Amino acid sequence: MKLIDSFGRKIDYLRISITDHCNLKCYYCTPFSGRSHLERSEILTYEELLNVARAAASSGITKIRVTGGEPLVRKGVVEFCRMLSEIDGLKSLALTTNGVYLGEMAEPLFKAGVRRINISLDTLKPERFEKITGYDWLPRVLAGIRRAEQIGMHPIKINTVVMRGINDDEIEDLARLTREKPYHVRFIELMPTDSSAYGDYKSLYMPVEEIMKKINKIDRAQIGPATDSYGPAKLCKLPGARGKVGFIAPISWHFCGSCNRLRLTAEGKIKTCLFSQEEIDIKTALRSGATQMELINIFQRAVSEKPRRHHLNEKKHQIACRQAMRAIGG
Ligand code: SAM
Repeated sequence: MKLIDSFGRKIDYLRISITDHCNLKCYYCTPFSGRSHLERSEILTYEELLNVARAAASSGITKIRVTGGEPLVRKGVVEFCRMLSEIDGLKSLALTTNGVYLGEMAEPLFKAGVRRINISLDTLKPERFEKITGYDWLPRVLAGIRRAEQIGMHPIKINTVVMRGINDDEIEDLARLTREKPYHVRFIELMPTDSSAYGDYKSLYMPVEEIMKKINKIDRAQIGPATDSYGPAKLCKLPGARGKVGFIAPISWHFCGSCNRLRLTAEGKIKTCLFSQEEIDIKTALRSGATQMELINIFQRAVSEKPRRHHLNEKKHQIACRQAMRAIGG
C-alpha cells in the first residue's frame, strides 16, 4: 500500500513523539505559556504507539523517527525501539535526541535497531550551553556524540538552531567539525513558536543566506551553492572534509513540495504539517478498541487532509505554532 496525498506527494515518513518531557530547558523550545506537561494518562502507552506504528507501516510508512520532548527520558524507550524495528515493512528507524543520555544509551539503542541519529547541539562553549539549556551538560552531549560514532551509528546528524547574538559566532567552528568527523552539521533557521524566545524573534532570526555566507568564507574556500539534497536539508562539503554541512530553512525556503511526513504527538494527535493547527485524533480510536483497518483509515484520512504548503515565509515573524516544539515533537 502507498500513501499518496491530494498533491501527489508520497508520504512514507512518520515522526513519533513519545513524550513532551525534556531534561533540558532550551529557552527557544520551552513553552512560554507555562503550559504544564501532559499527564501520564494523556500520553499514548508504548502498546498504543506500536499499534499506530504497525498501522502506519501497513499504510505505506517505511521510515519512523522517534522524538519528543526528549525521547531518552521515557523509561522503556530501548525496548520500544526494538519492537518498532521488528515491524514488517519498516526500512529505517531513527531517533532525535539532545544527547544527554546518549553516552550510556547509544549501544543499547544500536542493538535495538536504531542506526540513524540526530543530535541537537547549539554551541561548543560550556557556559553558553548552560545559558541556552539551563544545564552544564555539554561534556555529556559531546561524549554521547563520540559514543554514537564509536558504535557505528550512521549518519550522525548534528542540528544547530542559529540565533543572532547567541551562537551565530560559532557557525564556522561547528561547520569545521565536519573536517575530521563524518558528521552532517546542519544549521536550522529559528522558527517562531510559543517559547521565551518569541518576544525577541525578529532580532534572533538569522536567514539561511547569511549563515551560508559565513560558511563560504571558511578558509576563503568558495563551497558553492548547497544543492545536494537530503530530506529538507541542502548539503555541501568543506574542501577535504569527511562530513557535510547542511542548511534547513523552513522560513526562507519552504520544502513543502517534497514533504513526505506526518507527525504523531505524544498526546495521540496526527499533525499533517508542523505549522498547521489542524490535528487528527487517533487516541480516541485507539482507546475504544479500533481495529488495525480503522487505524489505517485514520492515516489515509490524515494524508488526504495534508495541506499543500505552509505560509510561514509570507507572515515571517508571526507566531507559527501555538505550541513549543517540545510539545509537538520537532
Ligand atoms: N529533545 C530532542 C532534541 O533535542 O533533539 C528532540 C526534540 S527537539 C523539540 C527537536 C529539535 O527541534 C531540536 O533540534 C531543537 O533545536 C529544534 N527546535 C526547537 N524549537 C525550535 C525553534 N523554535 N526553531 C527551530 N528549531 C527548534
